[in-house]
Amino acid sequence: MRRKTHLSIAAGVVALLAGLLHAHFADFGVALLAALAADEFIDALGHVGRRRAPWTHNLFACLLLPALITAVLNAAWRLVTPLAYPLAAAGTATHLALDALTPAGVWPLWPLSRRRLRGPIHYDDPTANTILTTLGAAAFIVGVSLLAWHAS
Ligand SMILES: [Zn+2]
Repeated sequence: MRRKTHLSIAAGVVALLAGLLHAHFADFGVALLAALAADEFIDALGHVGRRRAPWTHNLFACLLLPALITAVLNAAWRLVTPLAYPLAAAGTATHLALDALTPAGVWPLWPLSRRRLRGPIHYDDPTANTILTTLGAAAFIVGVSLLAWHAS
């Protein structure tokens, strides 16, 4: 999917889960930054020319990248955010789910298996991208509202 679709869905899932789990703002903030950064790294490092590549479009990268980024942010800001990593990992995993909808697909178990998971929706499909971006934005608003509600 398009970059803004990835970012919207990742942010929406992190916010919604944070809201439902009554996360602290610090956990939410670190998770949001880590998920968005990991999401960007997956595509920045995961292409050869315009072609998607397996080394970041797999489950292991989706677990490892947010772990590294969460650890760096916690160390830099001297925070302890136990919920940040699971939230960030869930947000990052949406990258794989969205790209699995496309014909180029993803390689969920790479490097153990080169088996690809694909779908019928072109990454640039305007309708799919609009619907998904809107859903992500709505989930984000609901999640942040829940967080604010629990905090008040
Ligand atoms: Zn991608």
